[in-house]
Amino acid sequence: MKIAILTSGGDSAGMNAVVRSVVKAAILKGCETWIVREGYEGLVRGNTEYYETISHSDSGIIPPDPKEIAPAHYKLSEDDPYLIQNLRFGDGSLLKDGIGDYAEGRTLKGRYIIRVGWDDVRGWFTEGGTLIGTARSAAFRTHEGRLQAAYNLLKEGIDALVVCGGDGSLTGADVFRAEWPTLVKELESQGRISSSGGSTHLRIVGLVGSIDNDMSMTDLTIGAPTALHRICEAIDNINSTAFSHSRAFVLEVMGRHCGWLALLAGVSGGADFIFIPESPPEGNPWEDAMCETIKRHRMIGKRTTIVIVAEGAHDVNLEPIRVEHVKSILTDRLGLDTRVTTLGHTQRGGRPCAFDRILPTLQGVEAVNALLESTPDTPSYMIGIQENKITRVPLMEAVAMTKAVSEAIAQKDFNKAMSLRDPEFIESLSGFFATSALEEQKKLPPSKQMRVAIMHMGAPAGGMNAATRAAVRYCLRQGHTPLGIHNGFRGLLDDNIHELSWLGVDTWMARGGSELGTNRTLPSVDLGCVASKFQQFGFDALMMIGGFEAFSALLELEEGRKHYPSFHIPIVHLPATISNNVPVTEYSLGSDTSLNALVDACDAIKQSASASRNRVFVVETQGGKCGYIATMGALATGACLVYTPESGISLNTLREDVKFLKTRYALDAKGKSEGRLVIKNEVASPVYTTDVITKMFKEEGGSLFDSRSASLGHTLQGGVPSPIDRARAVRLSLKCMTFVEQHFQKMKAQSHGHGVGQGGSSGQGRGRHWHASPESAAVITIQSSSIKWVPVRDMVEHADMDKRRGKTGWWIESGIKELVESLVARPQLVN
Ligand code: ATP
Repeated sequence: MKIAILTSGGDSAGMNAVVRSVVKAAILKGCETWIVREGYEGLVRGNTEYYETISHSDSGIIPPDPKEIAPAHYKLSEDDPYLIQNLRFGDGSLLKDGIGDYAEGRTLKGRYIIRVGWDDVRGWFTEGGTLIGTARSAAFRTHEGRLQAAYNLLKEGIDALVVCGGDGSLTGADVFRAEWPTLVKELESQGRISSSGGSTHLRIVGLVGSIDNDMSMTDLTIGAPTALHRICEAIDNINSTAFSHSRAFVLEVMGRHCGWLALLAGVSGGADFIFIPESPPEGNPWEDAMCETIKRHRMIGKRTTIVIVAEGAHDVNLEPIRVEHVKSILTDRLGLDTRVTTLGHTQRGGRPCAFDRILPTLQGVEAVNALLESTPDTPSYMIGIQENKITRVPLMEAVAMTKAVSEAIAQKDFNKAMSLRDPEFIESLSGFFATSALEEQKKLPPSKQMRVAIMHMGAPAGGMNAATRAAVRYCLRQGHTPLGIHNGFRGLLDDNIHELSWLGVDTWMARGGSELGTNRTLPSVDLGCVASKFQQFGFDALMMIGGFEAFSALLELEEGRKHYPSFHIPIVHLPATISNNVPVTEYSLGSDTSLNALVDACDAIKQSASASRNRVFVVETQGGKCGYIATMGALATGACLVYTPESGISLNTLREDVKFLKTRYALDAKGKSEGRLVIKNEVASPVYTTDVITKMFKEEGGSLFDSRSASLGHTLQGGVPSPIDRARAVRLSLKCMTFVEQHFQKMKAQSHGHGVGQGGSSGQGRGRHWHASPESAAVITIQSSSIKWVPVRDMVEHADMDKRRGKTGWWIESGIKELVESLVARPQLVN
């Protein structure tokens, strides 16, 4: 199959990773790969003239024996005029340095559809925007334009197209596919192609590249996480100056029809008020409601005010809400020193975050599979993601649902608009209200109020503080008493427990580490004493935020219920650990922050490795006996090898790896060798340590390559938590709070008078005769596309208690390590 890929519409971070992934995955499946420059415009313009100076004579990087470096179907031939070097301009500079310059006179002279090879897309990961260019094409909207586009594809024998863009681009792709048979017939009747010259079936697949996250039927679009990173960085920076001067800031962010960026920025930036198109502000007029909320925050001593406005925000009558208007209200009515910041195109740009490298890579592979499986009877698919599962959904259904949101907004049917957004969006909005606004009037009746203890356990992880902040604010809103246990179970035994306040946790959203303090002590240190402290402080519920220790502690407390009545309360564990080693769940808070820290470090290391041309860096990661961070880090950085404790390291592996590296460096063009990364978990092997492997590579590399090592150590805990970790922290933490509320009520109802009235704030210090079910001691997990509660007892069979990890992991079952290696064409080892 000949597959072409184009990027279209507005650019977004991660589009290059899509191109890289599609090209590599398609080559590995034996396909020929082409890129189309400048979106549909390039498709219409086609290849009118060949650029005369295209040359591959200086390459030296065409593999002498392709079988050595890649599977047999990865065919390379020295006679192929387009391969590998065809993305070079006459002066030898790479396409990626020059693409887009055509408008300034440096042109590829009418060559828009270009065959590409394996190495053409090397290193594209780290670049923002799209290196193959994007455009909005009026010509493609016309029948004539699409006829010409079909001709240009058929001329090259291409009948499969991957389109990465927004809903407009994907609509265009579907229109093109539907029209394809008639376009082929028309070209035949015009005599432009022979009667058997064209395939009657155009295979297409769409990937959503859009910073707004405005596509329905997928949780995330490519580029949206990076845009959110840019916005959160800006908010974090603004917060410090706002605090210093006690100022208010009104921020305008992108999002004409979709408020996702504003909403998630509001949640993860800890904003006071947000305006999004799907849910106009309540209150008549809304200005009063906004002032009321902000005034309440100021009255209790808040020194900063952050208001976020999506560029498409409006009131219930669809009158636009402008930042300048918001500013004047805050200034005139509340007397706040208010500034406006419009983030504009800075949101688009910059290096893709870890998520925008991993997601497009996985989706690119899935896109190629979808193309290969496509038949004239299957619908065109869009590749999406739901929680942690890469999905295929009918493209036009997703587009129709996306359009339905805009239509509902236009008809002022905001309930419908919200209902058409995915569940995460809806939960994030209620999460924002629950954690941002100080509201006195919504408290539960005293009989339903609880004393909720919150504790951090194990090593710090990004999002622990954000989860705590969300829980505290939710508790206060409901009338519960949030109690912070400082320094884990040691702190509990030392009575180091304090009530947490709404304002006290205000700045915790952006804080890394653990504000409560954390350690690894388990309750078994003195279970009886721990039980008496539960009773003394009258805990009605406990949330533990942490990694494997929190899981182990939950297990001990649940087992301890046999002897200690005070453990008969709802107890939840919210997984938070950079190692992501809690069994069953596919995601732990902090793992995204950690991957971003790893990507940042590795980008810098790779730059250094590339500057020295031929250096292999062996990068050591934390993670204990769990290879998650190393494996996903390798996927996110484009590392060529990864060593994990699960796979171990054998002499045979190392021999094959050295052979692979030698072959690979021998194929690099003279003077154009690149730095390469090898990611190794700290305990992948007790014998073949980082030092041993580095020395081995150095020795074996000879004149071909050199080797150095770098240990990332605790830097992987990350400084500032990533927006994804913050937003998920809020969402999962609120689910934990609802869980403990429900179980608390259930226990009370089942007690039939025994101990009724002894819970709640009034229950402090008294005994309790309730019986807690095993389900009330549970872990919140993400499994594939859903969030599930798993009783801690049921977790045990999935845990490897000695190695402190799950018996398996989704990244192992989905073959991420193998994917990393196949994306660098390392032959799979048969151990
Ligand atoms: P963004 O979300 O950044 O706006 P988008 O993909 O929605 O991205 P559009 O400008 O709507 O951006 O579409 C990009 C291109 O897709 C258009 O310039 C046009 O060439 C093509 N296109 C859009 N809609 C159609 C259509 N109905 N028929 C044919 N082509 C279309």
